[in-house]
Amino acid sequence: MQNITILGSTGSIGVSTLDVLARHPERYSVYALTAHSRVEQLAEQCLKFMPKVAVVGSAAAAQQLSRLLHAEAPHIEVLYGAAALCQVASADACDAVMAAIVGAAGLESTLAAAKAGKKVLLANKEALVMSGQLFIDAIKHSGAVLLPIDSEHNAIFQCLPHNYQRQPSALGVEKILLTASGGPFLTRAVDTLDTVTPAEAVAHPKWVMGRKISVDSATMMNKGLEVIEAHWLFGASASQIEVLIHPQSVIHSMVSYVDGSVLAQLGNPDMRTPIAHALAYPERIASGVGPLDLAMIGQLQFGKPDLQRFPCLKLAYDALEAGGSAATILNAANEVAVQAFLDEKIGFRMIDQLIARTMDSLPLCAVTDIEMLLEQDRLARETVESLIS
Ligand code: NAD
Ligand code: MG
Repeated sequence: MQNITILGSTGSIGVSTLDVLARHPERYSVYALTAHSRVEQLAEQCLKFMPKVAVVGSAAAAQQLSRLLHAEAPHIEVLYGAAALCQVASADACDAVMAAIVGAAGLESTLAAAKAGKKVLLANKEALVMSGQLFIDAIKHSGAVLLPIDSEHNAIFQCLPHNYQRQPSALGVEKILLTASGGPFLTRAVDTLDTVTPAEAVAHPKWVMGRKISVDSATMMNKGLEVIEAHWLFGASASQIEVLIHPQSVIHSMVSYVDGSVLAQLGNPDMRTPIAHALAYPERIASGVGPLDLAMIGQLQFGKPDLQRFPCLKLAYDALEAGGSAATILNAANEVAVQAFLDEKIGFRMIDQLIARTMDSLPLCAVTDIEMLLEQDRLARETVESLIS
């Protein structure tokens, strides 16, 4: 029996994770569930899965949750705040942590799980993008197991040799082919992108996801963050990671070898597949995802990304090449710009412009500890905020 903590259980990944866990009560029990503000949804999840601990964002939310659990589940301990997230991510009683908080808000708790040597199921790509080597060092130092949940990285993981140690050339790996659906604006006239609304941007053609990652998919910053994520997870250089547009989202990514072989992982676009894979690894369990019907799909298409249409993808490659604090700044600037777009304070095309200007205006530095990292994150946020106002 494995005890699982889900950081961000009320989000899209959190809900899919609980769906998989519910199919295997003999294998998994829930140690902790966490949510920022959706207290009623968290209360329902608690009553169904009966975790030992539940964590929310504020004292008021904690009070409300305690009231909702009082009659049927008074034994569930209710906590709140950042320290409590770290506590449930590193508790002795927890074996595996699903890191599914969105954005930099998930860094500390994901890092706490890594430092505590947990099995870390990583959905929160921003945490790895912003902390890079510090995160990988924490994993190595504690002996934690890091398994990718992002569908592309989970696919790559499945296509790599089982004894892969973040050294591509050593095992004949030539290239990683990261597939991208292209999002909702793949074919929309570029000169109309200025006027797209948040509702249009979050309407992803293939995946149902949280709002932030949906906007990232529309700008293709999501793919940019994934290039950087692949670099840290698999030790591949920027030139070894190629983005390939594949609108059907059936091939979740591929690995190309020196002998000309290309291995791919396919499936219906449903996050329960990578979640089930990582939960049970190295075994396989049912995920609830239906069988892939290729005859029905008929055709798979591929193309090169257009960097004019998707400048964010280029910005991410530039940040990876630049190294040091560049990816931290890129991630922070993107988070603030995307929120401003969702709040209808800026237009869609301002997202990439704000990130580019922030990256130009902040000097790069080496990031050697977490305090420096948080300082760079803060500076980048301040810079975008002031550019917006
Ligand atoms: P979401 O917006 O649906 O859910 C986010 C979760 O984080 C919620 O449970 C929310 O309560 C919690 N949260 C938000 N702000 C918080 C804060 N300040 N403190 C504590 N908790 C907070 O997001 P999602 O789509 O589930 O994505 C989660 C992560 O997984 C993201 O990093 C995303 O990039 C990654 N991811 C998602 C998908 C997907 O299909 N949704 C696919 C690949 C990767
Ligand atoms: Mg992905």
